[in-house]
Parts: sequence; C-alpha cells; structure tokens
Amino acid sequence: ARQFTRPLNDLANQWNTLLSAIAGAERVFEIMDEDVEEADEQGATEVKQLSGAVEFKDVSFAYDTERSGDTLQHISFSAAPGEMIALIGPTGAGKTTLIQLISRFYDADQGQITVDGKDIRTLRRSSLRQHMAFVLQDSFLFEGTVLDNIRYGRLDATDEQVREAAKLANADTFIRQLPDGYEQVLSRDGGGISQGQRQLLTIARAMLADPAILVLDEATSSIDTVTEIRIQEGLQRLMKGRTSFVIAHRLNTIRSADQILVLREGQIVERGNHDELLEQGGFYSELFHSQLQISS
Ligand code: ATP
Repeated sequence: ARQFTRPLNDLANQWNTLLSAIAGAERVFEIMDEDVEEADEQGATEVKQLSGAVEFKDVSFAYDTERSGDTLQHISFSAAPGEMIALIGPTGAGKTTLIQLISRFYDADQGQITVDGKDIRTLRRSSLRQHMAFVLQDSFLFEGTVLDNIRYGRLDATDEQVREAAKLANADTFIRQLPDGYEQVLSRDGGGISQGQRQLLTIARAMLADPAILVLDEATSSIDTVTEIRIQEGLQRLMKGRTSFVIAHRLNTIRSADQILVLREGQIVERGNHDELLEQGGFYSELFHSQLQISS
C-alpha cells in the first residue's frame, strides 16, 4: 500500500507553481503569464456562477512524448455539485493528469469535459479557473506577509476577510503564534514554517477564493499530529458545499468520499463508495486490508 504515498513528481510540482501563478496574480508574477495563458477559443464565454457539476464523457488523453498508449483512456464519470470524489491508484495511474484536465492545463484528445453542462473548451480559461482552487502538496508561497500570501486567493479581500478565512481554515492559531503574526514575512520556500503550516495557509487561501470546485492533493509526508488534525478539520470545512477532487492518501478521507475512482494505467478500474468497493472485493478492498495491517 505504500506505493500510494509517493509525492507528486517534479512535473506536477512545476504545474503547481504555474497554476498558482495564473490564479489571478498577474501583477505579482507577470513573467509566467505569457507561457501559461493559452489563447481562448473563438467566442469563449465568461462563467459567472457555477454550481460545480463536473462530467467526463469518454475522455482520453496522451502526452505528446508518450509512445505506449494513452495516459487516460475512456474516462467517464459525473460529479454532482458538492460531491467529494477521491482519486486513488498506484503511481503513474493518471490521477494528476485527470485533475489537470479539469483545469484545462491540458485539453482532452477525445471526449468531453463539462462543468455545469458546458464544455469547458467553450469557457474562458481564466474564468473557469476563478471558480477553482488548488490545495496541492507543495504549497506555493511568495515572499511577502502571511496576510498577502493568503490574500492571493482573492486579491481584493480586506485584512478582516483574510483573517476570517484563516480562522475557518484553522490556520489562525498558528499564525498568531508567529513572532509577527499576520505581518510575518515568509520567504518563497516557506522558510520558518512547517510543511503542514504551509498547507494551512493554502487552505485559508482557497477558503478566501470561495470556489465551486476544489482540487486537493493530500499530503503524504509526515506532519505533526496537532497540525494534521487542524488540516483535516480545515479541509472538511473547505470542502463542504464544493465539488472536490482529492488525490487521496489517507484512509479517513477516502472513506468519507461520495465516490472513489480507482485508476490504474489510465483507466477507471473500480468505482463506488467505500462500502460498495469493499463488497466488490477487488483492488480497493485489497488496499484497504493491507493498510489495516500496516497501521495495526
Ligand atoms: P503519482 O501518484 O505518482 O502522482 P499519478 O497517478 O498522478 O501518479 P500521473 O502523474 O497522472 O500519475 O501520470 C500518468 C502517466 O503520465 C505516467 O506514466 C507519467 O509518467 C506520465 N506523465 C505525467 N506527466 C507527464 C508529462 N508532463 N509529460 C509526459 N508524460 C507525463
């Protein structure tokens, strides 16, 4: 079961940085913009409000460099607004690729992805991404105060709104313990705060952004127990009422998912909730039992 807990690869980390850079912070990171923002299709429209229904209809995708088969093959599923979808599967199965397609970091080669029934290719990229937030393992911070790092989720938020989001995210307690509190200056590599604390900041940032769709990559590295509990609570609150895609590593997270999609070699090989999958006695059930052995 341990193969499930490998951190994202370097490519995905770059993706994280790029995504962070396009999420409305052009003023801060002008450089990345040209590379990342591809032109929208003719007639692409703005998305005003989203309820967060997401559907994949027979989606296939291959990276250019790849020779042997598609990275994702015939993926179909639908997520109702507010549902939590856990993606699990061995390394290289395509979990990261799948969430990258939702945000249009890449476009599907075949099939269609819709959000609230609209093909995402007919929407303006920046507009689509405004309705999404990302909480990835290697949280993106920049040199600036804690306040500004959180405000990155919504640039026009007041200090008060930033603090409110931090409280909801369970980040307020640790922030107030920093020597300069919310005015503490963070370095780009997050110097001075732990990985778990960085994640709390990212949760606060996402809370402030208030998106309809969330993409989470659950941390795999060990985080101290107190911070871990705060993160779990913060995430619960963040996910409530939003459609969430979670690359999940923790059994508790997976158990609480509305749908678990088990990916293997680019295909969905099992699907259902925890109880249904245990009943099926397949790959998931094997994983579940092997994890139990590890933790007992
Ligand atoms: P992990 O749990 O290790 O993060 P994953 O399930 O998220 O794995 P992906 O990162 O989606 O898997 O990778 C699926 C396949 O696509 C792998 O074979 C991987 O090597 C390949 N791949 C991923 N990113 C790229 C890329 N940018 N260019 C070419 N191939 C890639």
